[in-house]
Amino acid sequence: MEFNIPTKIIAGEGCVVANAKQLGLGKRCLIVTGHSSAVRSGALSDVRQALDSIGAGYAVYDRIGENPLLSACAEGARLARDTGAEFVVGIGGGSPLDASKAIAALAANDMPDPMGLWDANVNVNPPLPVVAIPTTAGTGSEANAYSVLTLDGRDVKKTYSSPNTFPRLAFLDARYTASLPERSTMSCAMDAACHCLESYLSPKSTVFGEVYALRGIELIAPALWSMADFGGEDDFAAYIAPQREALLTGASMAGIAISITGTGFPHPMGYNPTLYCGVPHGLACGMFTEAYIEYCGAAGGATGERLARFMRSAGMSAGEYAALFNRLLARADIRLSRGDVRLDEWVTNAGGASNFANCFAPYDTAGIRGLYETVCERYMTL
Ligand code: NAP
Ligand code: FE
Repeated sequence: MEFNIPTKIIAGEGCVVANAKQLGLGKRCLIVTGHSSAVRSGALSDVRQALDSIGAGYAVYDRIGENPLLSACAEGARLARDTGAEFVVGIGGGSPLDASKAIAALAANDMPDPMGLWDANVNVNPPLPVVAIPTTAGTGSEANAYSVLTLDGRDVKKTYSSPNTFPRLAFLDARYTASLPERSTMSCAMDAACHCLESYLSPKSTVFGEVYALRGIELIAPALWSMADFGGEDDFAAYIAPQREALLTGASMAGIAISITGTGFPHPMGYNPTLYCGVPHGLACGMFTEAYIEYCGAAGGATGERLARFMRSAGMSAGEYAALFNRLLARADIRLSRGDVRLDEWVTNAGGASNFANCFAPYDTAGIRGLYETVCERYMTL
């Protein structure tokens, strides 16, 4: 058994500026962001201040969209090379952080086709070092080696990862998540909770990963209750503010947990509603959590026992956990239009994923279509 998280995590309010010297991983960097969250969260301004204070130069690539396209990563990598970047600073949610890892690898390996990312004969040089600064509390990308990318024109996600794709450094400052709206906050918290559950129920789970999965859900579950109970009487941002730090810490722990195990079937099932219907990633995975819990519970034996152990850390029964997810999903008001739910393609896209076997009770993939039909019907509009 091995346990190696080669990411140094620095956490706390003001940690970027206070630890500016640690950002000095080279003379110049490329800052990779989404469209506006890096500015709105205040993180970009802190990073600029920190880089200026140590005399490091930078260029900014701010064209990473949600569910980042491989082509955008290739464009970012060209800018990194053209500007002589020696390291990459990713600021944002999982999309810019995942993109930063791909950009760092593509910048270090001049390849004509970015699909070479997955070809060990082409992707030979180690990536540029990456600094990850999350502005959402969800994916845990700052603490793992995964880079989930969308292949252009194919409505399909493909994960790139290697032992050297972990960020070198991560800064966790919960203030950067304060500007995240209610629905995104719920989605990201749900994603992190899914990571804890799917990691804990994976046969690849080790005692080291379990610590992160169980402590992670202890931190996240109270915030999920708060969000479900929010009556809209106050400003959501002020209401949830006391929970932001626990959410961010819990999400990073969940990210470490899945770095050991990977995720279970709610993840590949969720990729299709995200790419075809625009359902945010965490909500899309959460749509399949009740089915996952029921499936694992029905398996009984060791799987049932592990599920019960997880729920003790979550502080509720499996039934209450599923009901909580459903309340949050109802709040999020997910709507799928029948024309977008293209089951033949969805079953093909999800069917090949190894995640179905990544459970103590491997899921029989013959049931994928039925599961989609049952779950999607609840959210179907016309
Ligand atoms: P995201 O796709 O990075 O961002 C979603 C939206 O939230 C964007 O519109 C973004 O705006 C906005 N946003 C981000 N931070 C904000 C802030 N502080 N204030 C206001 N708006 C903010 O969301 P995500 O859920 O964090 O990441 C999802 C992606 O991560 C998916 O592609 C998923 O497949 C991947 N993922 C990766 C892992 C992993 O282990 N690496 C795990 C799970 C999921 P901007 O466009 O302006 O940035
Ligand atoms: Fe996820």
